[in-house]
Amino acid sequence: MMSDSLLNALLHAKKVVTLTGAGISAESGIPTFRGAGGLWEGYPVEKVATVEGFEKDPQLVWRFYNERRVNIAKAAPNDAHIILAKMEKIYDLWIITQNIDGLHQKAGSRNVVELHGNIWRVRCTNCGRVEYNYEVPLREIPPRCKRCGGLLRPDVVWFGEPVYDINKAYQLTEKCEIMFVIGTSAQVYPAAYLPRAAWSHGAKIVEINPQETPVSSYADFIFRESATSAMRKIYQAIQEASQ
Ligand code: NAD
Ligand code: ZN
Repeated sequence: MMSDSLLNALLHAKKVVTLTGAGISAESGIPTFRGAGGLWEGYPVEKVATVEGFEKDPQLVWRFYNERRVNIAKAAPNDAHIILAKMEKIYDLWIITQNIDGLHQKAGSRNVVELHGNIWRVRCTNCGRVEYNYEVPLREIPPRCKRCGGLLRPDVVWFGEPVYDINKAYQLTEKCEIMFVIGTSAQVYPAAYLPRAAWSHGAKIVEINPQETPVSSYADFIFRESATSAMRKIYQAIQEASQ
């Protein structure tokens, strides 16, 4: 059962923001990141998710991203992604995601801010050209720029690099009435500041995560369960109440 006060908040809100992390894609078969003992799908994080690692061994980094692209290409959006896409019809709803898998867009969401980039984009380290590239598996590793022949890198944000669109994320955060925080360990900054900022501006915080996180200490409502199970309950309650 969902609490009456959450239902009440959901029935009166117009502006909703959802902050999502790797956990929302876990049920689509895409592994999360933490708790893997410093390894990311078997690779040391500093080797595959830093500029230094890339400069040392672009081949290794691209083998890692190629494997992730193969895995992500097979993944379908789950009910949590799909329900969020449907909720764009009910709310002025924005998704701020740390994920690079593109599953929100695949589910039909249009208002998506990708703080950490997108695994389906590549960027030339020489001329800066950015393009979408859906080749799976990649024929050439590391891939080269069509325009200048320069080395391409994944257009994703690595440790130590600034995130994309943080100003937009803050603007949305400061205006929302409800923020869902789904499947993020809330340990990677600056994304982890956003729920606190929303809360300070008076938004109700709804955390959906089987594990406790730093957000749990101030969240107004907590679903200690998987993203799909919580989102099904929430969507069903909204629909029943508005019939
Ligand atoms: P994280 O891996 O640090 O945390 C995942 C969180 O999801 C945990 O708190 C976990 O308890 C929770 N979780 C696990 N299964 C869940 C489920 N079924 N439903 C709801 N929650 C569930 O992820 P993060 O906070 O996003 O930070 C990791 C970083 O790694 C990010 O920067 C992100 O860009 C990157 N990353 C992205 C992907 C992706 O694009 N799918 C996957 C792995 C890592
Ligand atoms: Zn180039």
